[in-house]
Amino acid sequence: MSRIKMKTPVVEMDGDEMTRILWKWIKEILILPRVDLKTDYYDLGLCERDRTDDDVTVRAAEAALKYGVAVKCATITPNAQRVEEYKLKKMWKSPNGTIRRIMDGTVFRAPILAKGITPYVPGWVKPIAIARHAYGDIYNSVECRVNEGEKAYLVVEKDGAEISRTLIHDFADGEGIIQGMHNLDKSISAFARSCFNYALDAGVPAWLGAKDTISKTYDHRFKDIFNEIYEREYKQKFEKAGIYFMYTLIDDVVARVMRSDGGLLWICKNYDGDVMSDMVATAYGSLGMMSSVLVSPDGKYEYEAAHGTVTRHYYKYLNGEKTSTNSVATIWAWTGALCKRGELDGIPELCDFAKKLERATISTIEAGFMTGDLIPLFKRENITPVKLDSEEFLLKIAEKL
Ligand code: NAP
Ligand code: MG
Repeated sequence: MSRIKMKTPVVEMDGDEMTRILWKWIKEILILPRVDLKTDYYDLGLCERDRTDDDVTVRAAEAALKYGVAVKCATITPNAQRVEEYKLKKMWKSPNGTIRRIMDGTVFRAPILAKGITPYVPGWVKPIAIARHAYGDIYNSVECRVNEGEKAYLVVEKDGAEISRTLIHDFADGEGIIQGMHNLDKSISAFARSCFNYALDAGVPAWLGAKDTISKTYDHRFKDIFNEIYEREYKQKFEKAGIYFMYTLIDDVVARVMRSDGGLLWICKNYDGDVMSDMVATAYGSLGMMSSVLVSPDGKYEYEAAHGTVTRHYYKYLNGEKTSTNSVATIWAWTGALCKRGELDGIPELCDFAKKLERATISTIEAGFMTGDLIPLFKRENITPVKLDSEEFLLKIAEKL
């Protein structure tokens, strides 16, 4: 069988621990036999990040901007314990944070569905993708306590001269707390464009919820910016694709999402996205079935799994034990990247291969063959699920493929 040829490389960002092992197997067992894979390779494993003073992460992100499509393995974000474990020069920053900053992108998470694995909300038969605006609000806020008898103001200055002064509260009757937060028009606009690009790509409607009735300036600014960009740059494209954008109050969005059958993009402000992404992920089942893509406002893509490096499984693997680690989300990172590359370069066989690999993966699970994390979730008439180890699962998919 001749292998599918590629034109432009996919930027490949290798990673750490158990996912680094899965990475190699996915390529060897599922991709390389059928695709003459062309990648621009960067090793984002912690050792290499340490050796290059994290320069490799910056170069990888710049390559993603250059080529437009990247696929990333999960990586360790070091903490004090990792600094000790790997004898690091420094507690390097999260690679995902660095890449997100350089690509100025938004992270979209969407569950991967298979028959037999029923979400906790049974009406959700299609995936709900979540976009979280990962900038500003309470995550970059300042706060302090205020004593009884003190007054707190919101003050804006320019070159030391006061522009405006608004009373937050007169604490005459007792002590309390205050908080100051901000956001940037530039960041909200980039977020809006990433969301609209994603919705067009996925062919799903986009819902934004905020609290503009209460927050008449702050949340209202999100509503206005989204509406302006939608009307000016995206409305026609959306209409052509048969989808729509809707702004409504966050409470209303929550109610509508619960009643929906899925198949939508839920655009969240920073805090809502933090909370709701955990709720939605849990409702759909396993972390191993959650895909993730970073989309830049000018349409550059970095695909990855939403989960981490699965450290506990890796230590078992190092002990020579078999693990049953779910590779589905990492397979989706590869199929997402290959299909996007095929789309951009006009190689339909590449998209076709990616879609077939996804179908083979899902039908393997639906036929009852899966990794340990899915076993307790799986319920299908006349099928008793079989637990496979990490490698057996990939071989079973290859057989189906
Ligand atoms: P994790 O790697 O996602 O794993 C947490 C637990 O979830 C695992 O121990 C496992 O549960 C289950 N799990 C996650 N993915 C699974 C899979 N594919 N198959 C089967 N079970 C899976 O999170 P963590 O343990 O908090 O973090 C480990 C490392 O990953 C950390 O160093 C962190 O910095 C990094 N991390 C990286 C990213 C990223 O690169 N995007 C994201 C998150 C975390 P059981 O042990 O019960 O089987
Ligand atoms: Mg959270």
